[in-house]
Amino acid sequence: MKAAVVYGVNQVEIREVSTPTHVQDGEVIADVEFVGVCKTDQQLTMMGLEQERILGHEVVCRLPAQKGHFALNNEISCGQCTYCQEQLTSHCLNLQELGVNEDGGYAEKIRTPRKSLHPFELNNPALGVLIEPLSCAVRGTSRILAATNLLSVSRPKTLIIGGGLSGVLISYLLTHSPNFDGEIDLYDITQAPLPWVDRLGIQRVDEPEPDQAHLIVECSGSPEGLATALRLVRKAGIVCIYGVPKPEISLPISPHELFMREITVITSFAGATDHTMGAAIAYIKRDEQFFEQLLGRIIPLEKLPTELTVWCPQPGTRTVVDMNA
Ligand SMILES: [Zn+2]
Ligand SMILES: [Zn+2]
Repeated sequence: MKAAVVYGVNQVEIREVSTPTHVQDGEVIADVEFVGVCKTDQQLTMMGLEQERILGHEVVCRLPAQKGHFALNNEISCGQCTYCQEQLTSHCLNLQELGVNEDGGYAEKIRTPRKSLHPFELNNPALGVLIEPLSCAVRGTSRILAATNLLSVSRPKTLIIGGGLSGVLISYLLTHSPNFDGEIDLYDITQAPLPWVDRLGIQRVDEPEPDQAHLIVECSGSPEGLATALRLVRKAGIVCIYGVPKPEISLPISPHELFMREITVITSFAGATDHTMGAAIAYIKRDEQFFEQLLGRIIPLEKLPTELTVWCPQPGTRTVVDMNA
């Protein structure tokens, strides 16, 4: 079968690889239809991997002789370790992640546990690539909402840094949460138009001021974004690191300053579970029109190597690989 294989630092190519045939108990071989091109894929490609790997973890697929489309939860946890016992499956000591440390979706077929596939019905099945990232945002938002109990106000002034897909999804979930009553501003370093901002009724700011926001969610994954968040947040405020910081970056604030300003730093790492996948499907089904505008360019697999090595998605959208294009 045809697949995109990462074989070195920033090296990826389309190749013929052997089609998976062997399945273990509970596994299936699914036909890949669409895959979302995530910044994580770009970062993994740029770092290079210990061995050749097929990336792609935001996967929509079909099963032979079955109707409908399925979204993949790419996290396979063992169900046995102490983390799994506490339902912290993303922290499983034996975690396998399809498209990260196991082969994923940038191929015609994918081998996966049957129970990792979540059926969904949407008018546009390509929207299914948003289910996995939205599922992670559902977890992130619940951690943010839990942390807001530490704030001294019930309507926190909130700043989202980064208008990429993570920023949109967190903004969407906060504005749609019955447990959040804050006012949201969005700061994105680029001047790129972000049409979804108006539709969520949030304000875009060009130069956010210090000491305004009680809660800042860093969604850009950039060192500047993190430094800005920690510089701007109010005393006794909360910074949530949601965008994945690069491994070589250290926290741009001293423990002394963190202490004196009484800043709470929280993080949210991935976290697709049956529950969050189900919640994500329900959100998209209720509001397909909104999510439709987050789909960016649709490309064939052949264009993926360029897409990953020359990273430039349309701002605030997901580029989608259409395996049948
Ligand atoms: Zn992703
Ligand atoms: Zn486990």
